[in-house]
Amino acid sequence: MFLFLRLENKINYKNIEDIDFAERKLFKGKGVKLIKIISLLSTFIILSLITFILKNNVFIKTESNTIKNKTSDERILGHFPYKQTANNNLIEIEPNIFVHKDMYEALLKMKKDAQREGVYLVFLSGYRSIKLQKEIFYSLKSLRNQNALERARVSAPPGYSEHSTGFAIDIGDANNPQTDFEVGFEKTDAFLWLKDNAAKYHFRLSFNKKQNSVDYEPWHWRYEGSIEALRIFESSNRKNF
Ligand SMILES: [Zn+2]
Repeated sequence: MFLFLRLENKINYKNIEDIDFAERKLFKGKGVKLIKIISLLSTFIILSLITFILKNNVFIKTESNTIKNKTSDERILGHFPYKQTANNNLIEIEPNIFVHKDMYEALLKMKKDAQREGVYLVFLSGYRSIKLQKEIFYSLKSLRNQNALERARVSAPPGYSEHSTGFAIDIGDANNPQTDFEVGFEKTDAFLWLKDNAAKYHFRLSFNKKQNSVDYEPWHWRYEGSIEALRIFESSNRKNF
Protein backbone atom coordinates (compact mmCIF):
# COMPACT_ATOMS: atom_id res chain seq x y z
CA MET A 1 0.00 0.00 0.00
CA PHE A 2 2.73 2.49 0.94
CA LEU A 3 4.61 1.47 -2.09
CA PHE A 4 1.56 2.05 -4.16
CA LEU A 5 1.07 5.57 -2.67
CA ARG A 6 4.68 6.48 -3.31
CA LEU A 7 4.33 5.20 -6.81
CA GLU A 8 1.17 7.23 -7.23
CA ASN A 9 2.87 10.38 -5.86
CA LYS A 10 5.73 9.80 -8.14
CA ILE A 11 3.41 9.47 -11.07
CA ASN A 12 1.53 12.62 -9.99
CA TYR A 13 4.74 14.52 -9.53
CA LYS A 14 5.91 13.44 -12.96
CA ASN A 15 2.57 14.53 -14.37
CA ILE A 16 2.83 17.99 -12.81
CA GLU A 17 6.35 18.34 -14.15
CA ASP A 18 5.09 17.42 -17.55
CA ILE A 19 2.32 20.01 -17.37
CA ASP A 20 4.68 22.71 -16.13
CA PHE A 21 7.11 21.97 -18.88
CA ALA A 22 4.39 21.81 -21.47
CA GLU A 23 2.87 25.11 -20.24
CA ARG A 24 6.23 26.82 -20.33
CA LYS A 25 6.77 25.54 -23.84
CA LEU A 26 3.30 26.70 -24.83
CA PHE A 27 3.98 30.19 -23.42
CA LYS A 28 7.24 30.40 -25.36
CA GLY A 29 5.41 29.30 -28.53
CA LYS A 30 2.72 31.97 -28.14
CA GLY A 31 5.38 34.66 -27.79
CA VAL A 32 7.17 33.61 -30.92
CA LYS A 33 3.90 33.43 -32.80
CA LEU A 34 2.98 36.94 -31.60
CA ILE A 35 6.34 38.34 -32.71
CA LYS A 36 5.96 36.60 -36.05
CA ILE A 37 2.43 38.03 -36.51
CA ILE A 38 3.58 41.54 -35.50
CA SER A 39 6.55 41.45 -37.89
CA LEU A 40 4.41 40.07 -40.69
CA LEU A 41 1.77 42.73 -40.05
CA SER A 42 4.32 45.55 -39.94
CA THR A 43 5.96 44.29 -43.15
CA PHE A 44 2.52 44.23 -44.75
CA ILE A 45 1.70 47.74 -43.49
CA ILE A 46 5.07 49.13 -44.66
CA LEU A 47 4.71 47.49 -48.09
CA SER A 48 1.13 48.78 -48.43
CA LEU A 49 2.28 52.28 -47.46
CA ILE A 50 5.08 52.20 -50.04
CA THR A 51 2.67 50.96 -52.72
CA PHE A 52 0.14 53.68 -51.78
CA ILE A 53 2.79 56.40 -51.89
CA LEU A 54 4.13 55.24 -55.25
CA LYS A 55 0.66 54.81 -56.70
CA ASN A 56 -0.74 58.14 -55.53
CA ASN A 57 2.38 60.27 -55.72
CA VAL A 58 1.59 61.54 -52.22
CA PHE A 59 4.71 63.65 -51.93
CA ILE A 60 4.38 65.31 -55.33
CA LYS A 61 0.61 65.50 -55.28
CA THR A 62 0.42 69.29 -55.06
CA GLU A 63 2.78 69.70 -57.99
CA SER A 64 1.10 67.07 -60.17
CA ASN A 65 -2.34 68.53 -59.43
CA THR A 66 -1.17 71.92 -60.55
CA ILE A 67 0.17 70.43 -63.76
CA LYS A 68 -3.09 68.48 -64.25
CA ASN A 69 -5.16 71.64 -63.78
CA LYS A 70 -3.04 73.45 -66.29
CA THR A 71 -3.33 70.73 -68.92
CA SER A 72 -7.02 69.92 -68.28
CA ASP A 73 -7.90 73.50 -69.13
CA GLU A 74 -7.48 73.35 -72.88
CA ARG A 75 -8.10 77.04 -73.49
CA ILE A 76 -5.89 79.00 -75.83
CA LEU A 77 -5.66 82.72 -75.13
CA GLY A 78 -8.87 82.48 -73.09
CA HIS A 79 -10.87 80.53 -75.70
CA PHE A 80 -12.17 76.96 -75.27
CA PRO A 81 -11.73 74.45 -78.12
CA TYR A 82 -14.80 73.72 -80.26
CA LYS A 83 -15.34 71.21 -83.04
CA GLN A 84 -16.82 72.24 -86.32
CA THR A 85 -20.39 70.96 -86.57
CA ALA A 86 -21.36 68.72 -89.50
CA ASN A 87 -22.86 70.47 -92.53
CA ASN A 88 -26.10 68.50 -92.22
CA ASN A 89 -26.67 70.15 -88.81
CA LEU A 90 -26.82 73.58 -90.44
CA ILE A 91 -29.74 75.55 -91.75
CA GLU A 92 -29.62 78.85 -93.67
CA ILE A 93 -31.92 81.28 -91.91
CA GLU A 94 -30.95 84.31 -94.01
CA PRO A 95 -28.67 84.69 -97.02
CA ASN A 96 -25.22 83.53 -95.83
CA ILE A 97 -26.30 83.13 -92.21
CA PHE A 98 -26.21 79.47 -91.18
CA VAL A 99 -27.03 78.23 -87.68
CA HIS A 100 -27.49 74.86 -85.99
CA LYS A 101 -30.84 73.28 -86.87
CA ASP A 102 -31.54 72.77 -83.14
CA MET A 103 -31.52 76.49 -82.42
CA TYR A 104 -32.96 78.18 -85.48
CA GLU A 105 -36.60 78.04 -84.32
CA ALA A 106 -35.79 79.67 -80.99
CA LEU A 107 -33.66 82.28 -82.73
CA LEU A 108 -36.33 83.20 -85.27
CA LYS A 109 -39.02 83.30 -82.58
CA MET A 110 -36.84 85.63 -80.50
CA LYS A 111 -36.40 87.95 -83.49
CA LYS A 112 -40.15 87.92 -84.21
CA ASP A 113 -41.12 88.59 -80.59
CA ALA A 114 -38.62 91.47 -80.35
CA GLN A 115 -40.05 92.93 -83.55
CA ARG A 116 -43.53 92.83 -82.03
CA GLU A 117 -42.20 95.09 -79.31
CA GLY A 118 -40.59 97.45 -81.82
CA VAL A 119 -37.04 96.10 -81.48
CA TYR A 120 -35.27 95.05 -84.68
CA LEU A 121 -32.61 92.43 -84.27
CA VAL A 122 -30.15 91.81 -87.11
CA PHE A 123 -28.15 88.63 -87.45
CA LEU A 124 -24.57 89.56 -88.30
CA SER A 125 -22.73 86.24 -88.13
CA GLY A 126 -23.76 82.67 -87.40
CA TYR A 127 -21.87 79.48 -88.18
CA ARG A 128 -18.26 79.87 -89.26
CA SER A 129 -16.10 77.00 -90.47
CA ILE A 130 -12.68 76.56 -88.90
CA LYS A 131 -11.23 77.52 -92.32
CA LEU A 132 -13.13 80.83 -92.28
CA GLN A 133 -12.18 81.44 -88.66
CA LYS A 134 -8.55 80.89 -89.66
CA GLU A 135 -8.82 83.55 -92.36
CA ILE A 136 -10.53 85.98 -89.99
CA PHE A 137 -8.07 85.44 -87.18
CA TYR A 138 -4.87 85.61 -89.22
CA SER A 139 -5.77 88.13 -91.92
CA LEU A 140 -7.30 90.68 -89.55
CA LYS A 141 -4.46 90.19 -87.14
CA SER A 142 -1.93 91.19 -89.80
CA LEU A 143 -4.10 93.98 -91.16
CA ARG A 144 -4.41 95.54 -87.73
CA ASN A 145 -0.81 94.81 -86.82
CA GLN A 146 -2.02 92.93 -83.75
CA ASN A 147 -0.19 90.03 -82.17
CA ALA A 148 -2.07 86.79 -81.38
CA LEU A 149 -2.76 87.81 -77.78
CA GLU A 150 -4.25 91.15 -78.78
CA ARG A 151 -6.29 89.59 -81.57
CA ALA A 152 -7.59 86.81 -79.33
CA ARG A 153 -9.21 89.40 -77.09
CA VAL A 154 -11.65 90.16 -79.90
CA SER A 155 -11.60 87.02 -82.08
CA ALA A 156 -11.17 83.33 -81.34
CA PRO A 157 -8.29 81.38 -82.88
CA PRO A 158 -9.37 78.75 -85.46
CA GLY A 159 -10.74 75.65 -83.72
CA TYR A 160 -11.62 77.74 -80.65
CA SER A 161 -14.66 79.67 -81.85
CA GLU A 162 -18.19 79.11 -80.57
CA HIS A 163 -19.30 80.05 -84.08
CA SER A 164 -17.94 76.74 -85.43
CA THR A 165 -20.49 74.84 -83.33
CA GLY A 166 -23.43 76.52 -85.09
CA PHE A 167 -24.80 77.52 -81.68
CA ALA A 168 -23.43 81.10 -81.64
CA ILE A 169 -24.92 84.20 -83.20
CA ASP A 170 -23.72 87.80 -83.42
CA ILE A 171 -26.63 90.21 -83.20
CA GLY A 172 -26.90 93.87 -84.15
CA ASP A 173 -29.57 96.56 -83.96
CA ALA A 174 -31.17 97.41 -87.33
CA ASN A 175 -31.57 101.04 -86.24
CA ASN A 176 -27.95 101.37 -85.08
CA PRO A 177 -25.68 99.61 -87.59
CA GLN A 178 -22.75 101.77 -86.48
CA THR A 179 -22.73 99.75 -83.23
CA ASP A 180 -22.30 96.39 -85.04
CA PHE A 181 -19.51 94.44 -83.28
CA GLU A 182 -18.92 97.42 -81.00
CA VAL A 183 -19.26 97.70 -77.22
CA GLY A 184 -21.59 100.63 -77.97
CA PHE A 185 -24.17 97.98 -78.95
CA GLU A 186 -24.95 97.62 -75.23
CA LYS A 187 -26.69 101.00 -75.35
CA THR A 188 -29.08 99.99 -78.14
CA ASP A 189 -32.70 98.89 -77.73
CA ALA A 190 -31.74 95.54 -79.25
CA PHE A 191 -29.23 94.80 -76.50
CA LEU A 192 -31.50 96.04 -73.70
CA TRP A 193 -34.29 93.83 -75.02
CA LEU A 194 -31.92 90.83 -75.30
CA LYS A 195 -30.68 91.40 -71.77
CA ASP A 196 -34.26 91.17 -70.49
CA ASN A 197 -35.53 88.42 -72.77
CA ALA A 198 -32.80 86.26 -74.36
CA ALA A 199 -32.79 83.69 -71.54
CA LYS A 200 -36.46 82.90 -72.29
CA TYR A 201 -35.26 81.59 -75.66
CA HIS A 202 -32.20 79.86 -74.08
CA PHE A 203 -29.64 82.38 -75.29
CA ARG A 204 -26.93 83.81 -73.10
CA LEU A 205 -24.07 86.23 -73.49
CA SER A 206 -20.79 84.36 -73.94
CA PHE A 207 -18.26 87.05 -73.13
CA ASN A 208 -19.39 89.23 -70.28
CA LYS A 209 -17.56 92.04 -68.53
CA LYS A 210 -16.24 89.76 -65.78
CA GLN A 211 -13.91 87.82 -68.07
CA ASN A 212 -10.25 88.74 -68.06
CA SER A 213 -8.80 87.17 -71.18
CA VAL A 214 -11.54 87.89 -73.71
CA ASP A 215 -13.09 91.31 -74.27
CA TYR A 216 -16.72 91.99 -73.49
CA GLU A 217 -18.87 91.23 -76.56
CA PRO A 218 -22.47 92.38 -76.02
CA TRP A 219 -23.36 91.24 -79.57
CA HIS A 220 -22.23 87.60 -79.20
CA TRP A 221 -24.88 85.16 -77.88
CA ARG A 222 -24.91 81.42 -77.65
CA TYR A 223 -27.74 78.93 -77.50
CA GLU A 224 -28.00 76.54 -74.55
CA GLY A 225 -31.45 75.12 -75.19
CA SER A 226 -30.42 71.55 -75.98
CA ILE A 227 -28.39 68.89 -74.25
CA GLU A 228 -25.93 68.87 -77.14
CA ALA A 229 -25.37 72.62 -76.81
CA LEU A 230 -25.05 72.36 -73.03
CA ARG A 231 -22.52 69.56 -73.40
CA ILE A 232 -20.51 71.64 -75.88
CA PHE A 233 -20.44 74.64 -73.53
CA GLU A 234 -19.99 72.63 -70.32
CA SER A 235 -16.29 73.52 -69.85
CA SER A 236 -17.02 77.18 -70.37
CA ASN A 237 -20.01 77.12 -68.00
CA ARG A 238 -18.05 75.21 -65.34
CA LYS A 239 -15.42 77.93 -65.43
CA ASN A 240 -18.12 80.48 -64.64
CA PHE A 241 -19.78 78.57 -61.76
ZN1 LIG B 1 -19.38 86.16 -82.25
